[in-house]
Amino acid sequence: MCGIVGFYGPPSKKAVYDIISGLLSLQHRGQDSVGVVTFDDKFHVKKGLGLVSNVFKKVNLDSLPGSIGMGHVRYTTQGSNEIMNVQPFTVNYPFGLSMVHNGNVINFNYLRKYLYEEHHRLLETSNDLELLLYTLASELELHDLKNLSIDDIFDSVKSTQQKVRGAYATITVIANKGLLVFTDPYGIRPLVMGKKDTPDGPCYGFASESTCFDYLDYEVIGDIGAGEIVFIDNDLNVHRRTGFVEKPAHCIFCYIYFSREDSIMRGQLVADLRVKMGRMLAEKMREEGFEPDIVIDVPSSAYFFASGLSEELGIPYRRGFAKNNHIGRSFISPTQSEREKVVRNKLNPIREVVKGKKVAVVDDSIVRGTTSKHIVSLLRKAGADKVYFVSAAPPIVSPCIYGIDMATKGELIANCGSIDKINEIIGADATIYQSLEDLQKLCEKVKLPVCDACFSGNYPTGDTREIFAEIEQERLSSRK
Ligand code: AMP
Repeated sequence: MCGIVGFYGPPSKKAVYDIISGLLSLQHRGQDSVGVVTFDDKFHVKKGLGLVSNVFKKVNLDSLPGSIGMGHVRYTTQGSNEIMNVQPFTVNYPFGLSMVHNGNVINFNYLRKYLYEEHHRLLETSNDLELLLYTLASELELHDLKNLSIDDIFDSVKSTQQKVRGAYATITVIANKGLLVFTDPYGIRPLVMGKKDTPDGPCYGFASESTCFDYLDYEVIGDIGAGEIVFIDNDLNVHRRTGFVEKPAHCIFCYIYFSREDSIMRGQLVADLRVKMGRMLAEKMREEGFEPDIVIDVPSSAYFFASGLSEELGIPYRRGFAKNNHIGRSFISPTQSEREKVVRNKLNPIREVVKGKKVAVVDDSIVRGTTSKHIVSLLRKAGADKVYFVSAAPPIVSPCIYGIDMATKGELIANCGSIDKINEIIGADATIYQSLEDLQKLCEKVKLPVCDACFSGNYPTGDTREIFAEIEQERLSSRK
């Protein structure tokens, strides 16, 4: 999962300022690297490993001129975290094309071969963005380049969407032509469009989450739908069409974990959906006969689940952990022992809150069990009488192949055999998971068509085992 932004405004506008603000608001979506491209009469690029605030600390933003540009924050799922893999990527023919994307291309072996044999393009990195960029470039190349029309651009994107399988939300600057945006046929990854009117003309923006536009004071126009294509030409006219579309399947994990609680995606305020999910968990706890004294959360993404649960159970919510906000996301650390160390350094239980209590501790999800095991042990050491570990997500049984690093199948704790075994591994008195059926009913009720492959094993792209094995292999080798 990554965060992307793109902006195009009148000539007086310096796109880079909105790009940097936008990326700062999306920093939670990726902390491995950051890259920015702007264009005036040539591309201007700045990339680096680490956080936006570090990479751009000493950069004079005026060295990135132009009223059009885009940026990317990366959370590595495919390829290694090296500067050569940092987005955006640029090609010079046909036209200058510079692109960012969020997601994961799954038919990379096919595309690698196709691009080399049919279009004589050799990949240079292990980043799947190259596959998207080169496929789009190859499709554009088939048209009359001197007289490239808007229809030619849309046709090229549609053919790209038909060839490139997987999840992608993309933004492309086409030199001297405009800003192009499209998503995969299922709309697995989010992308939102915004607009701000200025005395010199409209500014258009695209971002992974609507929150970005709150900070920039843009009006949110709406989501980019499954398979949709938007092109902003040089006169700032908006051209919007449907490309290659399949049944929409928006990533449910974006709502559960990845996105900020103040984001509105596909008409759903993330915080609101989380509260509803928390309420559903109360019913499950009652059914299973658990009667906690207090509800606490694992900071920060679980707060709204916990508040929904406590409201519905009619028992108090307390902040049970103090969090060190200066430590990054634990999951992203490369080894198990490093992950454990990060979890320990990040959270400290508030002894007086949990001592002698039956505590229901809520987290957004349990993946490998690293976090939950440590949380339970910390709560026990702090004197909790009983610890019920509550997962707002259903059991994660199948890895995500669309850009969320969820470990390999064998590493997923939900595949260990039984709930008793899970209790034993993490040391909890009980583990309570959201039911997949309840979650699916909720999504239906709020009219949110989702991809829940990580819980159900039903992949919207209908993938073969072969592709699955290739992805797992690629992931394991990039970890090395
Ligand atoms: P684990 O410790 O492996 O069980 O992972 C679960 C913890 O990591 C939870 O506290 C989540 O908040 C967080 N988490 C879950 N999924 C992801 C992900 N794909 N990337 C980063 N963090 C995650």
